[in-house]
Amino acid sequence: MRWKLVCPKDKSEIYKRSDEELVCSQGHSYRVVAGIPVLLRDDVKQTIELAEASLARAQNVQDVIDQRNPELYLESIGISNEEKEIAMALARDAASAMDPVVSVLIAATNGLLYKELIGRLNDYPIPEIRLPHGEGRTLLDIGSSWGRWSIAAARKGWKVVGVDPSLGALVAAKRILERFNVDIDYICADSRYLPFADGVFDQIYSYSVIQHFSREDALATIAEIGRTLSTGGKALVQMPNIVGVRSLYNLLRRGFSEGVGFDVRYWRIPALIETFEGKVGPASISVHCYFGLGLEVSDASLMRPHTKLLLALSERLRRCSEVIPALKYMADSVYVSSVRRPRLVG
Ligand SMILES: [Zn+2]
Repeated sequence: MRWKLVCPKDKSEIYKRSDEELVCSQGHSYRVVAGIPVLLRDDVKQTIELAEASLARAQNVQDVIDQRNPELYLESIGISNEEKEIAMALARDAASAMDPVVSVLIAATNGLLYKELIGRLNDYPIPEIRLPHGEGRTLLDIGSSWGRWSIAAARKGWKVVGVDPSLGALVAAKRILERFNVDIDYICADSRYLPFADGVFDQIYSYSVIQHFSREDALATIAEIGRTLSTGGKALVQMPNIVGVRSLYNLLRRGFSEGVGFDVRYWRIPALIETFEGKVGPASISVHCYFGLGLEVSDASLMRPHTKLLLALSERLRRCSEVIPALKYMADSVYVSSVRRPRLVG
């Protein structure tokens, strides 16, 4: 592990007691499972149910473990039983070139349009990350899942650590790493209580994660982004825009309710800017996609003709939005960029 970790409860430094256990100076103990430190807090309500399973697995609670194939950590992946069956079938298929869990996660984490790709992909779709070359600088990927953005960043010269509450997704992410010839660390952690010291990251990236949080959890996460970024360090966070066309349609269907559980919470652009400026530093908006959330233009080659057309149209509009800023306000999915302002001394 190339990172100095801190206790998510009290931010004191963490030490290695053995290959399987980390402890902080206050005596809090954390397990390391399959090489992944599990630094979730056991004294708070989790942001997502699967985090409970990650914790229980780390504590070796036997009746939580999906005994059908314990190696796949299916209990902490947040997929349906049908998807678990598919993952197990893929694991039994010796001809399958892809990791069984990642195959299912590609569909589960990337949205409905990716569903038809289960079992049909021959390679992992690694997107193009909208960042300059890293030149060895540090990057935190919040909600890294199976690692597609972590790999994209590492390939572009960033020194990457990914955090996610899903132990199963991280174990799978680690399994496929050797395929990419990049070095990435993964830590099972809660973005509201990041296990890193203040000011350690040059860049923080997060895609399709904070949009699923309640306001309170989102604010706590954005505050942690501000805390762990170095002065001048940058955040790039994908978020949903409430007045996007698809956003409004989805909101209409759910009666304009705020949303519960894992539902997407829609944000107004001025609120996004105000929040990031309050907790990180000067913020601006750019367009991610005009049609829905989670549709990624660099995956276009995997999509059906209809979806490819939508992506091409979205890209055209996005280029227009660089000239006509008002167009940004109509996109469903936006990126918030924010630069960490200098800390007050003394
Ligand atoms: Zn502690």
